[in-house]
Amino acid sequence: MYARGEKLGEGTYATVFKGTVLKAPHMTVALKEITLDPQEGAPSTAVREVSLMKALKHPNIIRLLDVQHTETRLVLVFEYMDLDLKKYMEKHGTHGALAHPMCLHFASQLLQGLAYCHKNNVLHRDLKPQNLLINAAGQLKLGDFGLARDFGIPVATFSAEVVTLWYRPPDVILGSRSYNTTIDIWSAGCVIAEMYTGRPLFSGSSPEDQLKRIFHAMGTPSERTWPEVTRLPGWKGDFPDYPPKPWVQIIPPMAPEPRAIDLLNRMLRYVPEERISAEDCLLHPYFS
Ligand code: ADP
Ligand code: MG
Repeated sequence: MYARGEKLGEGTYATVFKGTVLKAPHMTVALKEITLDPQEGAPSTAVREVSLMKALKHPNIIRLLDVQHTETRLVLVFEYMDLDLKKYMEKHGTHGALAHPMCLHFASQLLQGLAYCHKNNVLHRDLKPQNLLINAAGQLKLGDFGLARDFGIPVATFSAEVVTLWYRPPDVILGSRSYNTTIDIWSAGCVIAEMYTGRPLFSGSSPEDQLKRIFHAMGTPSERTWPEVTRLPGWKGDFPDYPPKPWVQIIPPMAPEPRAIDLLNRMLRYVPEERISAEDCLLHPYFS
């Protein structure tokens, strides 16, 4: 049914290839191949991805076109995208940084896709430049829902190991297990900042280092700035007491765009409930 072409990317469970539909008009697709353990069958991450993706239809969400399942292999057939946002920034950015109109264009699409997910009770939980895909028309789509989960299904505790460290919110790093859509808002804020600078906002080498970098920028939280923080499982009283810095100082390339700074300030909050929703982000003056 499909001819396999060059390799597009690789992850923990999957390899993604370019593919061509054998039937005319020979559409180009992306084939995400997951090797199955013949004893175990389809890994739960893949099964979750399939059921989630089939239900999601939106211009800013990668379209799952077909699923092929054999004893040894699961192949997810997605619409083809030219590259992911990380590669896009490396290729088209100035030292990775994108110009304001492009940041605005991608941020808008990222938040539209995210607002649709959240409206449908789907968390992405692994937003990062590598999981955002871009096509030749400049459309951005959310991909890699491998770790996404419908939070409509009652699951008491989510695993704390779900978001790549650099895009992981401090509440999750500190072991909070009651997170929700606010986790994606933090990650999306980190991605938006990265588009302006070309560098990850907080690139920690360990969970402790990740927290230290966040605290160094936003100020070490206290019961006053983040009620209940000291009761989180990972809280240690011995963090250095950093004062908060103004965002323009943390992200100088954003300084000419005060509306971008204001939006980011509403996305990157310590108290998860204070983080702006994706839907409200789209109403922010940044996009007007
Ligand atoms: P994993 O779950 O292993 O991280 P992804 O779905 O994120 O798998 O895919 C890995 C990489 O393959 C992506 O970062 C991207 O570079 C590339 N890729 C994934 N899907 C597509 C697609 N539909 N079109 C083009 N490239 C893709
Ligand atoms: Mg991925």
